[in-house]
Amino acid sequence: MNKLKKIIRHRYELPNEIAGLGYDIKRLREQGKDPSELERIRESKKKELIELDRELRPVGERQGIFIVVSAPSGAGKTTICKEVLKMLPNVRFSISYTTRPPRPVEEDGKDYHFISDPEFRKRISEGEFAEWAENYGYLYGTSGKTMEDFLEKGYDIILDIDPRGAKELKENHPGGIFVFVLPPSIDVLKERLKNRGSEKDDVMKLRFKKAMDEIKEIVWYDYVIINDDLNSAIDNLKSIYVAEKSRRERLTEKIKDFM
Ligand code: ADP
Ligand code: 5GP
Repeated sequence: MNKLKKIIRHRYELPNEIAGLGYDIKRLREQGKDPSELERIRESKKKELIELDRELRPVGERQGIFIVVSAPSGAGKTTICKEVLKMLPNVRFSISYTTRPPRPVEEDGKDYHFISDPEFRKRISEGEFAEWAENYGYLYGTSGKTMEDFLEKGYDIILDIDPRGAKELKENHPGGIFVFVLPPSIDVLKERLKNRGSEKDDVMKLRFKKAMDEIKEIVWYDYVIINDDLNSAIDNLKSIYVAEKSRRERLTEKIKDFM
């Protein structure tokens, strides 16, 4: 069937046939006759409609959703994302590639894929990354293939990436949801960076200066979470996800029978 025929079948023929069969089934029931054969045909037409719906719907409606979470270093986005991921079984974390050495608590393949600088650059030249950026002298990137695989399979994704990478995704991959996590104050941010104890003093200062620049990017994000109380911040990110999943246009298939 060519595309035009499919569209006609999807928009006009199948809805009419399904409605007509519904009417016939009702009449047979009123006459005390067995409608099971017509019911079977109606079910198979509904299935055909759903198949065509899946095929013809715009990509943004068919796929899983992706939420990009950015924050100045030390604001708490890793902590928040990890907790939210534990609560939402359909959500996967996009594990970035980086040339930064692992922190003592980090695991290869779980927190990041830790790779060498030449390996990263080879992957850039092969077009592997949907976006990538340099932070504090190290490279960080998101695998486009992994992202597309998850979305195609209907999984939703959380990505923890900086505002530059986030902007690149916003421009090249429509449909993302962009969340910025802020600390309650600048002093608290300094304190958290210090308490985490994962960086030396000079790197910490660099991270703090960069944090101030990154916060300026907040203007084009969709949502802001102020990470004062950790549990409320986790709740907020979860609520953003639930609200986005409840958007009417994402539920076309589920509500078809009511329409
Ligand atoms: P990011 O990923 O944004 O760089 P982290 O998640 O590593 O930040 O958090 C930085 C530090 O702040 C960690 O030691 C973490 O335990 C702590 N932290 C995160 N959220 C809170 C919060 N709401 N209250 C107090 N400490 C927090
Ligand atoms: P960290 O070294 O603290 O884990 O991360 C440093 C910064 O790199 C954070 O702002 C984090 O969001 C960002 N980052 C992590 N992964 C990626 C990625 O794949 N792409 C981009 N652009 N930034 C990333």
